[in-house]
Amino acid sequence: RAKIEGKNRYQFFTKGMNSKVIHRLSLENRLRVALDREEFLVYYQPKVSIGSGEILGMEALIRWQTTDGQVISPLDFVPLAEETGLIVPIGEYVLRKACVDTGKWLEKNKKLSVSVNLSARQFMEKDLVGTLVAIVHEVGLPVAHLELEITESVVMGNEQTAIKQLLEFKEAGIRLALDDFGTGYSSLQYLRMMPIDTLKIDRSFIKDIPDNKDSSSIATTIISLAQALNLELVAEGVENRAQLEFLSLQNSKDMQIQGYLFSPPLPDAAFSELLNLNCPYDVVVSSPGRE
Ligand code: C2E
Ligand code: MG
Ligand code: MG
Ligand code: MG
Repeated sequence: RAKIEGKNRYQFFTKGMNSKVIHRLSLENRLRVALDREEFLVYYQPKVSIGSGEILGMEALIRWQTTDGQVISPLDFVPLAEETGLIVPIGEYVLRKACVDTGKWLEKNKKLSVSVNLSARQFMEKDLVGTLVAIVHEVGLPVAHLELEITESVVMGNEQTAIKQLLEFKEAGIRLALDDFGTGYSSLQYLRMMPIDTLKIDRSFIKDIPDNKDSSSIATTIISLAQALNLELVAEGVENRAQLEFLSLQNSKDMQIQGYLFSPPLPDAAFSELLNLNCPYDVVVSSPGRE
């Protein structure tokens, strides 16, 4: 960490510090202030049953709304929050908010389950599982309505400790999803080791189906893999009906669809409105090529 106090300060700024470092430090400070001022928002994106068109759940996705009203993407601040450890309190904030909102929304839709992203950095914390389980219990959301999304990076280089933590989540009754599947490293090895319930196909594989043969084959293979391993499956980044159609021909009625085709991530109030409509999305496919 840079030392910017006392006598070093003058020398530091004049010689060593380039504008990138200054930008980084000021972003870090702004993140700390943002946490104090509760400038973080949680958006929700529906996950839709490909069989029925019903909303079965939603992914909680953080946003940062600065005082001037600008909404900043997690891609622009989560990496630094991870490096600085700020993702730990930020992650707890997202979990609490997601559990509170979902508890309220269960009255509108009893099936709802919320997915909350965890960063690998959070697994470095001494009592991650205890802390998160305490939050869920305190809010009073039944654990069956919560899923935590992790990536393979959680177990990389830290296998025994990480798997132990994952098993503790499972013992607490919390479901686990493997996010961004296919983009990581030795996926199959980790897949075998990790006690997960759900696979989320990364949107990079959905992007070019059905026209791109390779992407289509990879998507089909991941779907078969999930079926063979008895895992639930979420296809991320579905943006158009051609993609939906391809997926719906994979003989996987339990698949869930998450993507702009149905809805982008929405502020809590707008997502709540969406649940009021109680009207399933159109998942019916009627192409001539269909058997
Ligand atoms: P992710 O967990 O893989 O989340 C899915 C991302 O795909 C979201 O981006 C979502 O808005 C986007 N997406 C969904 N459908 C479509 C689509 O049809 N087309 C396109 N182009 N994009 C789609 P978002 O919200 O910008 O989040 C980016 C990443 O930031 C997340 O990827 C996740 O890794 C991280 N993130 C977001 N919220 C949190 C959080 O609370 N904690 C942590 N640790 N990470 C978070
Ligand atoms: Mg995710
Ligand atoms: Mg993902
Ligand atoms: Mg991602």
